[in-house]
Amino acid sequence: QKLSDQIAAGEVIERPSSVVKELVENAIDAQATEVDITFLEGGLKQIIVSDNGTGIAEDDLPLAFKRHATSKITTTDDLFNILTLGFRGEALSSIAAVSRVEILTNTGEPQGIKAEIIDGKLTSQEPIAAKKGTQVKVNDLFYNTPARLKYLKSQKTEIAKMIDVVNQLSLSYPDLSFRLFNGSKRVSQTAGDGDLKKNIANIYGRQIAQKMVPFASENVDFEISGFLSLPEMTRSNRNYMSILLNGRFIKNYQLSRSMINGYGSKLMVGRFPVVVLNIKMDANLVDVNVHPTKQEVRLSKEAQLKELIEQTFKATLAKNNL
Ligand code: ADP
Ligand code: MG
Repeated sequence: QKLSDQIAAGEVIERPSSVVKELVENAIDAQATEVDITFLEGGLKQIIVSDNGTGIAEDDLPLAFKRHATSKITTTDDLFNILTLGFRGEALSSIAAVSRVEILTNTGEPQGIKAEIIDGKLTSQEPIAAKKGTQVKVNDLFYNTPARLKYLKSQKTEIAKMIDVVNQLSLSYPDLSFRLFNGSKRVSQTAGDGDLKKNIANIYGRQIAQKMVPFASENVDFEISGFLSLPEMTRSNRNYMSILLNGRFIKNYQLSRSMINGYGSKLMVGRFPVVVLNIKMDANLVDVNVHPTKQEVRLSKEAQLKELIEQTFKATLAKNNL
């Protein structure tokens, strides 16, 4: 196994929640409508992600686990034109570099395929009964990188991070049904019926969700929508302000600022609203390729977007008589 692969793996796969994020994003890219995630021992013993998506064709299977072999980027222009969540072709190879992977997949044939990837190599591939879709089993995460294991926090913390990842994705994709299990115990579940407010209630509780109102607006470049909390429902930190850009959870201080500005003096100093802000924009105006975990992005026309957010928040709060 090449050292460069392990180094690359370390950048993409930091902890169990990174595995969950990458595998669920793959399921979403594969047009799944139902995604089940099961973990054992905080994800270190096992993580299983099953989806009902397109499946992987037999011929593509060896490539799926080769670094960059499936990269959707063929020219530098493509960097700015990414519509799927994955694009580097690094996730599966990185996961396989630091764990023992089993995969079961079926594109809708009478029979599916089962394969194992040990030390980054596809060791066996055999036909097996399987329904359409893909199941990836990640066993013994970081078994071969003890330094990484040491850096991890308690199981409780790692579980909380996995829950966060699934929650974030459920805010971006209310049309998909997600189920998360700790062993046989269900941790969370979403209906997948498109009702974003229901998912917000699932995550933050009904008390908070009840105090949130919808907003939506657009201009030539951006479409924004979501829910924002009434000024009486605030929190002492910004962790309850979620920004989802073209289906990705992102962090952006400037955009958070514009939401807060929209509340103006209605917000007490040191208090922050609960918000789910979905932004849709031309992929050409985003550069997602700033960090391997893709949470930070650069935007063109950021000032125009900030203005749209601030004005929409102001108008929404005014309309609700606040
Ligand atoms: P990327 O998502 O950046 O393309 P990944 O390493 O995450 O790279 O996945 C490699 C490829 O394997 C994907 O491009 C896709 O073709 C295929 N693949 C991975 N997971 C799934 C899945 N759950 N269903 C269908 N195809 C998948
Ligand atoms: Mg991917």
